[in-house]
Amino acid sequence: MVPLKSSKQATSNVTGEFKVGQRYQVATPEQTSNTQPSTSIELPDAPIETLNDTQLPVRELPSNIEESAAQLQWQAVKVRSGDSLAKIFKRNGLNATTTHKVITAQGEGSKSLKKLGVDDIIRIGKDEQGSLVSLEYPLSKNETLYVNLQNQQYHAYKESKSVEVREAIAHGVIKSNFWHAAASAGLNDGQIISLANVFGWDIDFALDIRAGDSFNVIYENQYIEGDFIGTGNIVAAEFINQGESFHAIRFTDGEYYSADGRSMRKAFLRAPVSFKYISSNFKPKRFHPVQKRWKAHRGTDYAAKTGTPVVAAGNGRVTDATYNKYNGNYVFIQHGNGIVTKYLHFSKRAVKKGQRVKQGQVIGYVGSTGLAAGPHLHYEFLLNGVHRNPRTVKLPDAKPLNQKYKQAFEVISKQRLAELTGSRRILLSMQPSAE
Ligand SMILES: [Zn+2]
Repeated sequence: MVPLKSSKQATSNVTGEFKVGQRYQVATPEQTSNTQPSTSIELPDAPIETLNDTQLPVRELPSNIEESAAQLQWQAVKVRSGDSLAKIFKRNGLNATTTHKVITAQGEGSKSLKKLGVDDIIRIGKDEQGSLVSLEYPLSKNETLYVNLQNQQYHAYKESKSVEVREAIAHGVIKSNFWHAAASAGLNDGQIISLANVFGWDIDFALDIRAGDSFNVIYENQYIEGDFIGTGNIVAAEFINQGESFHAIRFTDGEYYSADGRSMRKAFLRAPVSFKYISSNFKPKRFHPVQKRWKAHRGTDYAAKTGTPVVAAGNGRVTDATYNKYNGNYVFIQHGNGIVTKYLHFSKRAVKKGQRVKQGQVIGYVGSTGLAAGPHLHYEFLLNGVHRNPRTVKLPDAKPLNQKYKQAFEVISKQRLAELTGSRRILLSMQPSAE
């Protein structure tokens, strides 16, 4: 399956290594100021794994420690499974009294030392007598706890570094598979799933992606002192599916809206199964058995492994959750506006008759019970008792953004659309054939 192969992508992104692919910095108004990365480096180049209780060279100290402290012997200690500060101190020649004094240090944050994270690195600075003078513990990627000895007493304080956000753009043209195209465009697993989720009400990523479909994504990269620490939000995206363009723009409320300010969220998901579980994302144009079969048996089949979670396409109430020899384990959901959805051949049902379900809630798992040749979900969508193709049926327009935010959104929307269009033009001229 596709996602497993590229699962390394996410971790390698966190280390700051940029993957080969179409990933470009986009200049935006927010970064016109000089944001040159700082050159100071916190730890030596050796991989973190080798830093087990080893001596590290003396480094610069926070300015509020007396000058003599610069002569400290520093150790970087990696927290092991089952470790406590007491155990770590003991291993490094510090006694229980010191542990107590450090944990109860004046100031803020020393209590964080009662619960250490495995693989965290604690830096310990001792004087010539081997007494603890200074300790540093990272609380998060941008926050560090310092405990320093001042006038025979330990004082604790937290210091946070600001996270700088820079925007980047990824562009891809799909040749054989959306996941592959997105990964080679430089997006990590989480971003690929987010991208599909943003458009999941408009596009069935499991069955309706075709060769030649393309996407353009503006997203955030986060940096601390010039070091890449991870990706942030997708801020705008464009997806061209079978010639039709869809745009999504993130607003300040964290939601995505189309360019004209309508929520991307709609009453029904286009597919009740995540595309990441579907073995083949699409068939070549000339061969389209799904469409043909839909006409024959009025449903859509999603071939997926037994146990794959199936979600409710929309909010509603379960009218049937039972078994018969044709449908196997099945679930029917009654939604508003005369719409009923049906889900057949489950290996296991996850809801009961009469239960209210929310869109995206797991209602069962793919199987091959009843009249099914192999494991798949048979999905039906009925409007006033008539079968409709769930992937093409016209649904009521989504809710527009509240009128009072309209003007603010229009400003953002206009800018993002220009960025998407501009970047697509540049990228297409640079990358005549991308996966
Ligand atoms: Zn079927």
